[in-house]
Amino acid sequence: MVQSLAGGLYNRDPRPGVHTPRAEPVGHCEVNEKMSKAAELEARVQRGDVVVLDGAMGTELERLGAPMHDAVWCGKALEDYPDLVREVHRSYIDAGADVITTNTYASARHALEPGGLGDRVEEWNTRAVALAREARDATDSPRRVYVAGSVSTFGSFNHLSPDELARGLREQALILAVQGVDLLLLETLGTKRDGIEAGVEAITDIGLPVWVAMSCMQRRDSGKVMHGIEESQAHSDAGDRQEYEPFGPAMAAVMARGATAALMMHSDLNVTRAALESIAAHYDGPRGAYPNAGHWLRPQWAFVDQVSPEAYAEEASAWVESGARIVGGCCGIGPAHIKAVCERVAA
Ligand SMILES: [Zn+2]
Repeated sequence: MVQSLAGGLYNRDPRPGVHTPRAEPVGHCEVNEKMSKAAELEARVQRGDVVVLDGAMGTELERLGAPMHDAVWCGKALEDYPDLVREVHRSYIDAGADVITTNTYASARHALEPGGLGDRVEEWNTRAVALAREARDATDSPRRVYVAGSVSTFGSFNHLSPDELARGLREQALILAVQGVDLLLLETLGTKRDGIEAGVEAITDIGLPVWVAMSCMQRRDSGKVMHGIEESQAHSDAGDRQEYEPFGPAMAAVMARGATAALMMHSDLNVTRAALESIAAHYDGPRGAYPNAGHWLRPQWAFVDQVSPEAYAEEASAWVESGARIVGGCCGIGPAHIKAVCERVAA
């Protein structure tokens, strides 16, 4: 594993157009410590501990007053509101989250280039890891907190080929790994399976755990859970809904490419139980969910369908009862929800 991490970090991708980060030399001790943290987290998940993720970053920044950028959404806050980004991380650590996630959901090259910000890829991803690590280092809690690097397909919206998407994801993942994240969280909202599979294959050799998060929707007639998007059953019509293929089999196919945990992300809270059942029917490894409350109204999140922290924790408890081991929240879910979840389900 150590060799794999070092090899991954220092490999220069031979493919044209792939920008690899300028890696500072990393000493053996640091590499070993990084691997021991990654291995420790994987061991915890594999043996069935409940691991609590944070809640949303973007909507929490929005709630605290950071304007969302029309093209790169919460990414711009890395440049304009770094103190708020750090504050959001700190609020989730204080809430009891085991894993905090870098504000890099909208910071891969395919997210930044359409907004004319392609020259910020390395700077923003580097800064995002620094802010998360600063928040973690500032806490005096003896509890172990891991930093997940969000590696995201945001901005690609299925107009890139799987190979093109994989290049952007690998570039982002390498920067995050060099800067010291403990795991990679591949967030794939709206991306079809072939792109996700290519993405997983592009980042597994970096040597960090790769958790994959996919969104889903539920058919009105049969209740069948499908890979796709429907953020809010109560606030959407057919035009807001995208349906690809049955969710559990799609997730299992992606997991076979080398990822280590299967997560449902950014989907209606009311679909979560059925989504976890769908995953469990096809994949018996570590699984979990971080759904949302509300829906997207470009360039911001509409805070509707709000759920109380207690009610959210009640749902999370049901997910854990059904075998989920990784629980958190996506858009509209904040520190109060995560605190309630920790009090309810944390080991
Ligand atoms: Zn979300």
